[in-house]
Amino acid sequence: MLAGSTQFETLEQALKHYFGYEEFRPGQRDIITTAIANRDLLVVMPTGGGKSLCFQLPALLKQGVTIVVSPLIALMQDQVQQLADNGIAATFLNSSITTEERRDRAAAIYNGEIKLLYLAPERLNQEFISNFLVDLHQEVGIAGFAIDEAHCVSEWGHDFRPDYRKLSQLRHYFPKVPWLGLTATATDRVRQDIITQLDLREPAIHVASFNRPNLYYEVRRKTTTPYKELLAQVKQSKGAGIIYCLSRKKVDELTTKLQHDGIKVLPYHAGLDSQTRTNNQNSFIRDDVQVMIATVAFGMGINKPDVRFVIHYDLPRNIEGYYQESGRAGRDGEPAHCTLYFGMGDIKTIEYLIAQKIDRETGMALEEEQRIATQQLRRVINYAEATECRRIIQLGYFGESFPGNCDNCDNCKYPRPISDWTIESQKLLSCVARFSKQGRNFGLAYTIDVLRGSKSDRVLKNGHDTLSTYGIGKDRTQNEWRILGRSLLHQGLVDETSDGYSVLTLNSLSWEVLKSQRKVEIAIAPSLPTAETPDISTNTAEIQSLYNRLHKLRKQYADANKVPPYVIFADSSLRLMAQQQPQTLAQFAQISGVGARKLAQYGEMFTGEIRAFRAESGLSVQTESDPTPPLDPSPPRRRDISQTHLETLDMYQRGLSLAEIATKRSVRETTIADHLIKLMECGYEVDIDRIVPPDRATAIAQAMKIVGAERLTPIKEQLGEDYNYEEIKLVRARLSDREIAD
Ligand code: ADP
Ligand code: ZN
Repeated sequence: MLAGSTQFETLEQALKHYFGYEEFRPGQRDIITTAIANRDLLVVMPTGGGKSLCFQLPALLKQGVTIVVSPLIALMQDQVQQLADNGIAATFLNSSITTEERRDRAAAIYNGEIKLLYLAPERLNQEFISNFLVDLHQEVGIAGFAIDEAHCVSEWGHDFRPDYRKLSQLRHYFPKVPWLGLTATATDRVRQDIITQLDLREPAIHVASFNRPNLYYEVRRKTTTPYKELLAQVKQSKGAGIIYCLSRKKVDELTTKLQHDGIKVLPYHAGLDSQTRTNNQNSFIRDDVQVMIATVAFGMGINKPDVRFVIHYDLPRNIEGYYQESGRAGRDGEPAHCTLYFGMGDIKTIEYLIAQKIDRETGMALEEEQRIATQQLRRVINYAEATECRRIIQLGYFGESFPGNCDNCDNCKYPRPISDWTIESQKLLSCVARFSKQGRNFGLAYTIDVLRGSKSDRVLKNGHDTLSTYGIGKDRTQNEWRILGRSLLHQGLVDETSDGYSVLTLNSLSWEVLKSQRKVEIAIAPSLPTAETPDISTNTAEIQSLYNRLHKLRKQYADANKVPPYVIFADSSLRLMAQQQPQTLAQFAQISGVGARKLAQYGEMFTGEIRAFRAESGLSVQTESDPTPPLDPSPPRRRDISQTHLETLDMYQRGLSLAEIATKRSVRETTIADHLIKLMECGYEVDIDRIVPPDRATAIAQAMKIVGAERLTPIKEQLGEDYNYEEIKLVRARLSDREIAD
């Protein structure tokens, strides 16, 4: 039996009962055990790691009330709402409620009806609240203090809140009550500061890995038309997303453009009044709009677990910021996509901003700050330019060593070959040398023109068609030269003036290259545009269509009750429902995310919808009185799929044709078709419209209705010479057996 509880044998039972989850996430069990043993704790876990549960479950299993300090009203409301939906008595006291309401809540707390009380830090520091707590401790008992977003206590962090500083004063009222600090802060300095400032006593320290395996990281080079690429990406993406821009002005511009192109987006930045900000944020949280366009002002108050993509349309200022902002994707552990758009122009903008860092009073440049900011920028550029696993660089920044080959970043999935471009570099640099011999300097674009033998007026007027380097670079495309030029700049092998003209000048390293004392290696093949993360949430047509129905049901119910949809069920729970199709309450209870309360509250509604769906689809329907067979827990057999299949899927989703894939992989086209068939059979979604036009697919489906889908030959005979076996197999794989049957 668990200490302090008469109800559960194991922590797992308590977890299932209150939260509906089958197992703990890494670290949670240890932390919870330590918390129940009344020891001070510092919990450092990345966003989405599941920190809340680390104090919520102990709160439920211990005597008395647990006090939770949270910096934002929005965060408190969100957590209390989610707890309430799990049938857990939690409440908050803050400035957003009326006096009367406050009185009612205080009464409930005194009556021992509340297990978790959320408070803002400024409240806790008010005298009447400390008196209230002292009383409360005598009457009901305080089980512990949990300080969420504990990095707010540190000036070194990014969200310093002076009120957090005074929290430790509370300790002497309750010397025996344990404290638990929680944060997603990645830097060691802030962690140390939390321990000191919160006066944690010999705390057990739990630092989780900062790797977020479900996030796909990619960097895309800004093309000459970045907006077009962005728009295409957003159109292709499913689910909620955030697009970060550097300035308010860019947020507004991008919002207008995307709205004009029919995407449901709203802006968020510090220049909007607080009502607008709140409204926009709520629309986003409730899935009324798909995308939030925002400055970095947006994020901390956002607990939305089902953000499916985060795009940085501008270069972030440092790696830590990038990690935290992109990390707002996929808190629910489901696949999500983080894209960084990287263009040379961004570097200029940030350099300009850095140069603006001056002391307001003296008007002097803040050299130290400028130096740090420049260094941080360089690290971001290195990240963007890197050819190795993105996780090595990110996690390395936080002092964590990662072995690489994550298989979930652009560099691991589409490794770019490194090539020796020493000769090309010499051509380019000697062209620059010729210019400076004439006492002149030019930018990269012009230099490329000369190398490629352009007949432009400017080149001819300058007489550069007579240079020995004129036209020696015709064998390379303009884009290849551009990539080489940028890479030389980033590697410091040539300089560019920052006087606004950006002309190239040689430095000592350039001369080493020219004298063949130094090799130049670059990853020249631009990384392929990356496919959307395969949407594993919805598989075959049937599952997809049931998933959509459940999604709609959840949204309707959420709107009617004015709560965000994710409060009711996570996407992952809906997916399991669509796959396993529980029809009775006993089956429904087996779905991860369905605890005691959600079973009682939503069981009928969701199983009813599932039964209706099955009836309409001509599938067998069960009622409560039927003996309940256990659910088939095995969704499509993804294990049968090998790397080679997945590579085919990647290429196909990137838009390559069967023939192209076959050539690239040196196999026959039919083999590639077989891969796709296998993928579909195992539940992957493959858009075969590109191979089999819809009218032909319809004809094939018709034929299968007539002669059955079992054997291929009769279908082929029915269709005639004009059709081939590959098409038939593809269409057959796409249609579920049942659709063929009816
Ligand atoms: P953090 O505060 O660390 O960012 P949360 O506490 O908000 O993370 O948890 C992130 C998501 O993970 C939430 O949707 C939460 O319900 C879910 N979650 C937490 N623990 C588990 C678990 N053991 N099993 C499944 N889901 C979990
Ligand atoms: Zn990687």
